[in-house]
Amino acid sequence: MAAPAEAPETAAAAAGRRFDYDVIVVGAGIMGSCAAHEAASRGARALLLERFDLLHHLGSSHGESRTIRDAYPKAQYPPMVRLARRLWADAEAESGYRVLTPAPQLSMGPRDSAALAAAVGNAGAEEVDLARRWGGAFRVPDGWLAAASEHGGGVINATKAVAMFQALAVKKGAVVRDNAEVVGIEKGPEGGVVVRTSAGEEFRGAKCVVTVGAWASKLLRSVAGVELPIQPLHTMVLYWRIKPGRELELAAGSGFPTFSSYGDPHVYSTPSLELPGLIKINYDGGPPCDPDSRDWACGGGDVAERVARWIEEFMPDHVEAAGGPVIRQSCMYSMTPDKDFVIDFLGGEFGEDVVVGAGFSGHGFKMGPSVGRILAEMAIDGKASTAAEAGVELGHFRIKRFEDNPMGNAKD
Ligand SMILES: Cc1cc2nc3c(=O)[nH]c(=O)nc-3n(C[C@H](O)[C@H](O)[C@H](O)COP(=O)(O)OP(=O)(O)OC[C@H]3O[C@@H](n4cnc5c(N)ncnc54)[C@H](O)[C@@H]3O)c2cc1C
Repeated sequence: MAAPAEAPETAAAAAGRRFDYDVIVVGAGIMGSCAAHEAASRGARALLLERFDLLHHLGSSHGESRTIRDAYPKAQYPPMVRLARRLWADAEAESGYRVLTPAPQLSMGPRDSAALAAAVGNAGAEEVDLARRWGGAFRVPDGWLAAASEHGGGVINATKAVAMFQALAVKKGAVVRDNAEVVGIEKGPEGGVVVRTSAGEEFRGAKCVVTVGAWASKLLRSVAGVELPIQPLHTMVLYWRIKPGRELELAAGSGFPTFSSYGDPHVYSTPSLELPGLIKINYDGGPPCDPDSRDWACGGGDVAERVARWIEEFMPDHVEAAGGPVIRQSCMYSMTPDKDFVIDFLGGEFGEDVVVGAGFSGHGFKMGPSVGRILAEMAIDGKASTAAEAGVELGHFRIKRFEDNPMGNAKD
């Protein structure tokens, strides 16, 4: 009797033989954690590699609060925020975690500010009478506009949100490894990529997603010779004491808003939530830094004084500016010249095998679940169908090579 013919090997089985993983994600901040979760959700064998301990405080995704808002001067962001809101809710429902506290979003600034007018228009925000709506909390100069989108804002617990996506990724089969610094990404001998760590380990992947935050320029220069104009900035999270008796008025539970104050300095805030009696009011920017040799002390003095002066002018009866902020936490922005994200294939010899998510310019956290889904779809399918369905135009996020590199300091 003739031996039965062997079944022909499927493409997936062949790929499985050649690669240890379908998708290797480098960097476990919010973007990488969401990308690994999305890849694993789609049945891909996903590996997430993180240089430091999970949930460390050395990058950009740690801490207790990030604003989510739909008031954006640039029209490409509100569709991505709307998609993210849906994905935040899905992840909360699936994990049982609560990471997002909804709030109104208040945008205020000089009436002739084009950025403010665009943000208000894109959010469909309506002009509000500040005194009637939030008591005497704000004093704004004559000629200023204040507009609120009732369901546009919110506060996301950042570290808990990263933990949520890492837990969901593991639940769906992803392998998560910390203390694994990637030092090499090379083309694989049989296609795909080989990812090497400083400990000498090698992982073969069909695709690689690079989400290394403030390290993006350094890593991509060393592994691929690609220059991305992404400048890390040392920034500070500042918490200020609320004046006695005013604590409830500024609390998230009382409907106090997340807000952006356009003008100079550009200041933003989340309602009192994670630290009772304190409110986060931040300046949007900071000095350039090297993520591997940071001056942990800098960014405090001058920045804190600018915010203190803003508080004395705008919220003098409710927030204590004298004596400075009660708590200062260090963080980093990864600025692109136009403050638009980089979401693109690396190209060159890597073609579409390496996808880059970087340059989130101090405003990416809220959109982490959208970015993660887009990166995973680009890696697995070569295109992001969800982005197209949600009206997110990825053309805005291509890798650009700028002749000059002016670094702005305003959130947009
Ligand atoms: C003070 C502050 C306030 C902010 N406020 C807001 C806000 O209100 N709303 C909002 O939407 N956004 C906000 N942001 C921006 C937002 O937090 C960032 O855009 C976002 O966290 C960026 O995430 P990431 O995953 O790209 O970077 P990161 O969180 O830095 O993650 C990158 C990871 O890659 C790892 N890594 C680096 N190199 C390697 C390597 N070689 N091998 C393996 N791993 C590596 C790093 O250790 C790190 O864990 C704020 C940021 C700061 C600093």
